[in-house]
Amino acid sequence: MRRGIAALAVSVLVVSASVYAVGGGPMTGGGPEAAATAVFYNGRIYTMDVDGTVAEAVAVADGRILYVGTSDGALAAAGPGAERFDLRGLTVIPGLVDAHAHFVGYAVSRAALDLRGTGSFEEVSEMVRSEVALAHRGRWITGRGWDQNDWDRKAFPRRSDIDPVSPGNPVLLTRVCGHAAIANSKALEAAGIGRDTPDPEGGKIERDQAGEPTGILFDEAVSLVRDVVPSLTREEKKKLMISAAQDCLAAGLTGTHEMGISSETAGIYRELYEAGELPFRITAYFDGDAEDLDSVLAAGPAGSIAGGMFSLAGVKFYGDGSLGARSAAMLEDYSDDPGNRGIIVTDPEVLYERISACHRSGFQVATHAIGDRANRMVLDIYERVLAEGPGAGLRHRVEHAQILSPVDIGRFAALGVIPSMQFTHCTSDMPWVADRIGEGRLAGAYAWRSLISAGSRIPGGSDYPVESIDPLLGIYAAVTRQGLDGLPEGGWMPEQRLTIEEAVRAFTLDAAWAAGQAGDRGSIEKGKMADLTILDADLMEAEPADIPGIEIVATVIAGRIEFKAEKAPF
Ligand SMILES: [Zn+2]
Repeated sequence: MRRGIAALAVSVLVVSASVYAVGGGPMTGGGPEAAATAVFYNGRIYTMDVDGTVAEAVAVADGRILYVGTSDGALAAAGPGAERFDLRGLTVIPGLVDAHAHFVGYAVSRAALDLRGTGSFEEVSEMVRSEVALAHRGRWITGRGWDQNDWDRKAFPRRSDIDPVSPGNPVLLTRVCGHAAIANSKALEAAGIGRDTPDPEGGKIERDQAGEPTGILFDEAVSLVRDVVPSLTREEKKKLMISAAQDCLAAGLTGTHEMGISSETAGIYRELYEAGELPFRITAYFDGDAEDLDSVLAAGPAGSIAGGMFSLAGVKFYGDGSLGARSAAMLEDYSDDPGNRGIIVTDPEVLYERISACHRSGFQVATHAIGDRANRMVLDIYERVLAEGPGAGLRHRVEHAQILSPVDIGRFAALGVIPSMQFTHCTSDMPWVADRIGEGRLAGAYAWRSLISAGSRIPGGSDYPVESIDPLLGIYAAVTRQGLDGLPEGGWMPEQRLTIEEAVRAFTLDAAWAAGQAGDRGSIEKGKMADLTILDADLMEAEPADIPGIEIVATVIAGRIEFKAEKAPF
């Protein structure tokens, strides 16, 4: 990006600008309908095109980029009534996209009170009180994330502590670990838990000296209550999705590849987009374990709905578990658990049959594989399926690709299989990865540089809500392999780090490429969708430590400003 050719490229574009201005836009072949309806000018615009062009301005018509070049050129392309946004030197990059996340999961999690970081139980009960004030009588209030170790008084609360603030609404607040919860009297009543209720198998109902339940529940006893919390209605889900989209836009995201959606969720998306209610792009991968997979395959992929806002591009499968739980499938024993090599969660022959069916039906496949054994299994299946026929020519994906046997690293590029990776998983896991797999296997752990050197392109994701939605944290993790505390010094296995440009490309062009959308998205080029992320600092020239502090000034989708910070100069 920072090459001398940039200036030259800009000057070439100046010439093109005058051509467009005189002859109208190249997309429609001239005439007033080609005039730009929005112009973003006076910016530092990293286009991410093959030449690494840095431009000053972008002009937009019909949701697509009509012109990229100088401010004068873009303003000259503006039609009557065009919106003009003076960027005053702000940095613009292609709209950021999270290539692996769970948008609905994130949206639904927001229905619960977020109790992480609370400093006292009083703070928690105040949050419950304000929620009760908004809720109709009887509606469940749920929350998660409290940790009594953070409170001034470190004792577990009791239902008598919450009942006064919520006498008419059942309340269930889950501890940060998920293995304990506090329920109020209404919630215990709804679950039929009283002094005569025995402890369920694998769970415990805490009781006071008189034998009455205190409201504190452990493990399976939490499930007794959780099972009676009504699931969200379609309308509730829609509202949560709309507000989750606002969060994502404010984080600079223009879209997400959503892994593992159900038919119900696909239906909700269609309704939201048809009503124009979700200004956020979703590229969806259907849940490969769903019972109605066959009918979805028979119907074929849904290429582009609502002007490219939504597509059903592929199918998501699971190969193994997770490294944290020691259920990722490894070729050799876990270093800290002799005799355990993890779990292949889908029988390889069954997985092959399903992947083959997707391949033949024109669906891209995205398979979760974390351990080196699972990755090899999935590569073997893809190799076999690809050898049987080209299908629709789709590149299939491995989601996570965390621990690879060195001999498998080159197979990704050789087979045209995409390693879809989440940079913050690396920085979350790095404190304990060496314990799990031993020093000897670290060479293939989160091996971004090795994969790129072998010819792969790595789309970047976060797996939110597992990690933060903030793509700048992903870019920071990719570039530093350090925690936000700047540790370890020099980065964890720093030889695998990415450059800032590579990390940005992972969340833009390579994300688009991984979903077969690079012709339409991922860079700021004439004819592509006008999705932009506008930043208050020059990300490409930033000190890595400063990246998490960069602020999103605006997020633009199809040429429209869908998020704007107060500090925006326009
Ligand atoms: Zn995931």
